[in-house]
Amino acid sequence: MRRFTALLLAALMLLSLAACGQGDSAGGSAQNAAGDPSAEAPEEETPEVPEPEPYEISDPTVMPEGGVRDGVTYAAYDGIVEHLFFHPVVAYPELAFDGDAQANGIDDYMVTVDEYNKILQSVYDKGYVLVDIGDVWSETTGEDGAPKMVRNTLYLPEGKKPLILSFDDTNYYEYMLTNGFTHKLVIGEDGKIASWGKDPQGNEVTSRDLDAIPILDKFVEEHPDFSPFGAKGCLSLTGYQGILGYRTQTDTKSWSEAQEANRQKEIEAVKPIVAELKRTGWTFGSHTWGHIRLGSKSMESIQADTARWFDEVGSLVGPTTILFYPHGERPDGNDWQNTGPVFQYLQSQGFRVFASVGIESFSYIKKDICAVICDRLHPDGTTLRHSRDRYLQFYDAKDIMDVAVRPQREIDWA
Ligand SMILES: [Zn+2]
Repeated sequence: MRRFTALLLAALMLLSLAACGQGDSAGGSAQNAAGDPSAEAPEEETPEVPEPEPYEISDPTVMPEGGVRDGVTYAAYDGIVEHLFFHPVVAYPELAFDGDAQANGIDDYMVTVDEYNKILQSVYDKGYVLVDIGDVWSETTGEDGAPKMVRNTLYLPEGKKPLILSFDDTNYYEYMLTNGFTHKLVIGEDGKIASWGKDPQGNEVTSRDLDAIPILDKFVEEHPDFSPFGAKGCLSLTGYQGILGYRTQTDTKSWSEAQEANRQKEIEAVKPIVAELKRTGWTFGSHTWGHIRLGSKSMESIQADTARWFDEVGSLVGPTTILFYPHGERPDGNDWQNTGPVFQYLQSQGFRVFASVGIESFSYIKKDICAVICDRLHPDGTTLRHSRDRYLQFYDAKDIMDVAVRPQREIDWA
């Protein structure tokens, strides 16, 4: 929707330019609001423009080009775009860190609700503002006529730094339900996204304070300047246990009419959740259907997995150009120097931004194919314990980590 609005805006501005034949700066504005509209215009044939609605121009979800809007000065930013990703957050540490077989894995890969709250506050205090991963790069046509990706100049409130957030495995896997995580997203009585789950005593709890997604929604409500363009985060979804807590998947082993009827019910139930998430700035990416290793699986199984993701997940969340590598594992062993057959295949399926995991928010526009590869940083138990320095630009692990509720394991800075 934001993209479409931006394109519509671009079309309107180009038309108004043609009509009045002036204004280079306005032309630049249209360009940058939507990346490169010329590259995308064919997809979105705007019908005969009715009336240029003034509200489109001041739509707060459209990134402006420089200048002052509502008292805020926007300045060009071409520097690094930081990218942090989270897994689902731990709502009940006493269930997560109870010493069972999952406890150390959760300690390694997750943060608690309290830690997450403190991290959001810290990145906000340090001047980061949220941008959508889909606004950072655009597809355009190179001088040789071939499609290629370009980095957009971002126009941010002066002095602010851009931050992408993504959230992996927001599927609410079965194993999480007994380990201190919420069970699913729902729409609360106030019409807003909330989580539903059970507390350690088994009581049902609907809340906006126990899950990374509604917590961020609430944080942005309380700090609207954290998200100047309405961006939230990109949800990285697998499909093998459904999405967002709804069991929308098929099962290849057994399939009965009752199972299919239940699946259809879950599909209907998740649709309003997806719609509300989209309406409130959340976007979606693929994490493959089966959380598969793209560096070692056969081409055949990768193709089958991709088709299944589009069938069972893409059909519910809509098209996406973003792929988050499961386990951070790069296709063909290396996606930077090489463009191997798996990478080429995935790109041919519409993916343009390929995100792994790393020690910095590295990104690289590939020269030989229309694609961007990027790495994300990972706030979690591992980096809280062992990578304090690397994350100081975002937060100080000393101020964040819930040492008392986590397993008693090594901490570098303690
Ligand atoms: Zn994952």
